[in-house]
Amino acid sequence: MEFEPVIGLEVHVQLNTATKIFCGCSTRFKADANTQTCPVCLGLPGVLPVLNEEALRKAIMAGLALNSTIATYSKFDRKNYFYPDLPKAYQISQYDKPICLGGFIEIKTGDAAKKIGITRLHLEEDAGKSIHSEDPGKKVSYVNFNRTGVPLAEIVSEPDIASSDEAYAYLQNLKTIMKYLEVSDCNMEEGSLRCDVNISLREKGTRPFGQKVEIKNMNSFRAVKMAIEFEIQRQTRALSGGERILQETRLWDANRSETFSMRSKEEAHDYRYFPEPDLPPVMIDQAYIDAIRSRLPELPAQRQARFVAEYGLPPYDAEVLTASRPMADYYEAVVKEGVNPKKASNWIMVELMARLDDPENVQAFNVQPLQLASLLRLIDDGTISGKIAKTVFEEMARTGGDPASIVKEKGLVQVTDTSAIEEVVDRVLAGNPQSVADFRSGKGKALGFLVGQVMKESRGKANPQMVNEILMKKLS
Ligand SMILES: [Zn+2]
Repeated sequence: MEFEPVIGLEVHVQLNTATKIFCGCSTRFKADANTQTCPVCLGLPGVLPVLNEEALRKAIMAGLALNSTIATYSKFDRKNYFYPDLPKAYQISQYDKPICLGGFIEIKTGDAAKKIGITRLHLEEDAGKSIHSEDPGKKVSYVNFNRTGVPLAEIVSEPDIASSDEAYAYLQNLKTIMKYLEVSDCNMEEGSLRCDVNISLREKGTRPFGQKVEIKNMNSFRAVKMAIEFEIQRQTRALSGGERILQETRLWDANRSETFSMRSKEEAHDYRYFPEPDLPPVMIDQAYIDAIRSRLPELPAQRQARFVAEYGLPPYDAEVLTASRPMADYYEAVVKEGVNPKKASNWIMVELMARLDDPENVQAFNVQPLQLASLLRLIDDGTISGKIAKTVFEEMARTGGDPASIVKEKGLVQVTDTSAIEEVVDRVLAGNPQSVADFRSGKGKALGFLVGQVMKESRGKANPQMVNEILMKKLS
């Protein structure tokens, strides 16, 4: 029997508001433990939460970018469960009336494009963080409530994902969209983007879903991909051996690269949702939504299409350059200087990206758009060859220096003086009689060798076109 995976993702995106969702406490990361708390987010009796409009606005922005329908009526509910980092013993979330419904994200794996449906996006408050002592002799845990009440947008996908690659592409696109919108920093290490996976297998070509398993606790897209692959194998093995899949929550163990059972269905929470009595329903009108829509920035897919149309870039280049907003901005700043768009793209994709760990950090790179543009102009006006330019770029990346000064200091100006090149050509011809004879007897390949020798003799500084012309003249 052959099986196919059915995968859905639940992504928690921390919204980057200055204050928490229901109180005025700061959301700054890395502050001293429990210094950003107040009676509201500590869940003390008698306090009243007030919705932070900025969190609502950012959730709507996210929903619009995910092609969702924004609800003009939504409400908050209490999700009841006890956990040490949840001081109220309930989380304020949205149950049956979320702020955004429906939508999709378009992904591409290989050449195939596919739409992954979005079920919903809802707002909720984050919990605090438990810290367990790593000293085994010291059985102690601490709790930090700074994160309690930080706004989250939970984005739930339809079970439309059919492989680990599709899951990875979905997460990448989701993250890129959120970063373009600037509604979250999406830093997985700091927990501002977290992902749970729902996965089941079913007999290939059939409709009913198999029993699903939830996987939590993955802190990178790579871990999500690996956990999915592990689960597909584990479930395939179990089903092929006639076993039943248990409905359970599993955790990902990054050290052992495997999932393990955390709790079964019997231990699953009954959340006893009910409407939050302390918050009025959220009622917004279409004009409010339209105003937010009108201020949305250009999104990755639109920008990609524009790069192809406006700059004549191949779709691949456009995709790579727009995968991060700072990189796309960088590219456009170079092109604005009058540089040939394809040339700028080649330099960024080959030379620049090879020296950058994360395209998001391009603003801190030693070579800024104006400097790259002046380097490329030095090639266009014949001051240096493309090959020398790579050496200059290397130096710019290392020191942040100006291309023209580096060329001058290091004496890298291209030799375009005919007599100087002729001199080198004569020397090379005299030193390689065999190649000269080969060329004259019709072996065209010998010319390439001779050009190479001249370039080497001139330490790359001779103008290659002139070298070719002079060589041909002297050989014929
Ligand atoms: Zn507070």
